[in-house]
Amino acid sequence: MNYPKYSYLYLTVLFAFASVLFTGCHKPANLNSVAIETNYKTENVFVVVIDGPRYSETWGDPTHSLIPNMHNTLAGKGIINQEFYNLGTTHTMPGHTAVATGTYEDISNTGRQYPSNPSFLQHWLYQTQNAPAKAWVVGSKKKLQVLSNCSSVSWRNSYLPSVNTVDRLDKETFKEVKKIISTHHPKLMLINLKGPDFWGHGDDWFMYKYGIRQTDSMLNALVTIIETDSVYAGKTSLIMTNDHGRHLEGMQNGFVSHGDKCLGCTHINFYAYGPDFKSGVILNNQRHLIDVAPTVAELLGFKMEQVKGDIMTELFKE
Ligand SMILES: [Zn+2]
Ligand SMILES: [Zn+2]
Repeated sequence: MNYPKYSYLYLTVLFAFASVLFTGCHKPANLNSVAIETNYKTENVFVVVIDGPRYSETWGDPTHSLIPNMHNTLAGKGIINQEFYNLGTTHTMPGHTAVATGTYEDISNTGRQYPSNPSFLQHWLYQTQNAPAKAWVVGSKKKLQVLSNCSSVSWRNSYLPSVNTVDRLDKETFKEVKKIISTHHPKLMLINLKGPDFWGHGDDWFMYKYGIRQTDSMLNALVTIIETDSVYAGKTSLIMTNDHGRHLEGMQNGFVSHGDKCLGCTHINFYAYGPDFKSGVILNNQRHLIDVAPTVAELLGFKMEQVKGDIMTELFKE
């Protein structure tokens, strides 16, 4: 081939220009991540939603026999609110949506509808420009994948967190949680454990109680991971709540099901652990599910314009 000389020059310039464009566009996002200054020590937050145990079998049981880790170990290391409620729809998807977005929305419980508003994960990814591997939705119910996205036109398909939601037992999910933590060291996670809800719907009282015991022990294991991993120790907060409870005895079919406004369905657990939270304290001021997201945003210093809940300032050390 016999190209005129100017073609080589042209190609060289074109190639140089393309390389600049290419590297400019394809830098991994985490190289450009934006550090947000806050007054807090927290740099990472894990939000754990234990699906559907009833308050009366958990913190509301004076013997605490099914939650020995919470009672004997975790309560002393963190803060509990005994007046915590889901004041929206008491099903899995609306409950998790309230946690993730800070708004109550009666979305479909099938997993075929995105929340209208972006979650704290999308907001955080946008404002910090972190890589998707730093923010995760992990759970034991596949339908929870819709929490990674939303239907708002300005947010849909943007700043999506990583997703690992599969219909599986909690022990499989917890294995994945540990693997994701050691592989990616995420800074923000929304974790669902379904045991109490799953066995409750099966009308299996023995396994329902087993599910509560198992998730109590997983929560303790997660706190141990935080305390022993140098990436997390002293700079990681954990919040645990429930998406909903279950009917009180005498209401419809009792513990088997949920979904109305009875006290059994609406009264849920709240626990917070971390360097900025008080420890060994039990609160009795009324708070509810949509207050979780603004509290996470406050800790990590990002904004969520659409939230309807409030920052739970009473949790913080003075
Ligand atoms: Zn359920
Ligand atoms: Zn009920």
